[in-house]
Amino acid sequence: MANKAIIHVDMDAFYASIEQRDNPKLRNKPIAVGGNPNSRGVVSTASYEARKYGVKSAMSCKKAKILCPELIIVPVNKEKYKRVSKKLHKIFRKFSDKIEPISLDEAFIDVTGSNPIIVAKEIKKEIKQKLRLTASVGISNNKFLAKLASDMEKPDGFTVINKNDVEKILDPLPVRKLWGVGPKTEEQLNKLGIYKIKDLKNYDKNILIEKFGKKGIELIEFSKGIDNRPVEWRVKSQSIGEENTFSKDVSDINILRKAVNQYALDITKRIKKSHYLIKTVTVKIKYEDFTVETRSLTLKQPTDKLTIIRDTAHYILDNKFNIKKKVRLLGLTVSNFVYPNEPIQLRLDIDEYMRGTI
Ligand SMILES: [Mg+2]
Repeated sequence: MANKAIIHVDMDAFYASIEQRDNPKLRNKPIAVGGNPNSRGVVSTASYEARKYGVKSAMSCKKAKILCPELIIVPVNKEKYKRVSKKLHKIFRKFSDKIEPISLDEAFIDVTGSNPIIVAKEIKKEIKQKLRLTASVGISNNKFLAKLASDMEKPDGFTVINKNDVEKILDPLPVRKLWGVGPKTEEQLNKLGIYKIKDLKNYDKNILIEKFGKKGIELIEFSKGIDNRPVEWRVKSQSIGEENTFSKDVSDINILRKAVNQYALDITKRIKKSHYLIKTVTVKIKYEDFTVETRSLTLKQPTDKLTIIRDTAHYILDNKFNIKKKVRLLGLTVSNFVYPNEPIQLRLDIDEYMRGTI
């Protein structure tokens, strides 16, 4: 565990670089991929030439034009960027099966057991050859440090954070650089007199935990360069579900089973449309007295298969509830979406997929 090798790859000005690659007239010019300058459009990505003028992502195109009058605004072509992204992730998969995509142009790659320097160089080389684009890579022993590293020498960066350098690199940085610290948390920390990561590291642990709860513990760990989170498939915070109130309260388990079958069918169709896989199945029951119970199971392997989702829901219904009252409402929800970036070997025995209750 301690000697993990994590690479974070982040493409440089992804959208803008693709447009410059595909249209020679845009090369070496300040461009911004984004909305209409006359309306309320915003900049999605600015080329490095435009960034010199202070143009950046999420800025209104209007303001961008004022900062850089010769700025060329190019409309967003998301479909094209998605196609490039697919090719990019295909390159990643050549080097590891443990990949966590963060966005179209960014991913963590766990290459523990290989030499991360060699692998990262290969990845950069392939990206250049096959996509004619540049990426910045960060290498370290965890996700937080790898991501921090990839941002240190952009564009075309190649940065390694070794164990022995962690303190030296982290200590003087503003707390904002820590994973999960946005403007709001930054302000709260500043109020406590915590500005630099070093301040956070030396601060009273108990006060931080009291103030920020679980996040406080995480902040303390990050400030020491500790991050034990695994590289795993992208998890989307959303769910797909169906629920219905029966016209008459139900005591027959077979009616509940039938309802589950129908929900599973509808839900599976919607999952397939989303192109994601799911890991968690939840059954909800509202009883005749309006009390509500929910029970979940998280699968070992993500799936979009009807049989697995249906059988898991039945398993929950049969084994995780003790239905003694009439049922007024039944619901089925799937959540814990992951990005299907490797072929899933689905086995038929659903117990194989179950890890336990959440
Ligand atoms: Mg990027």
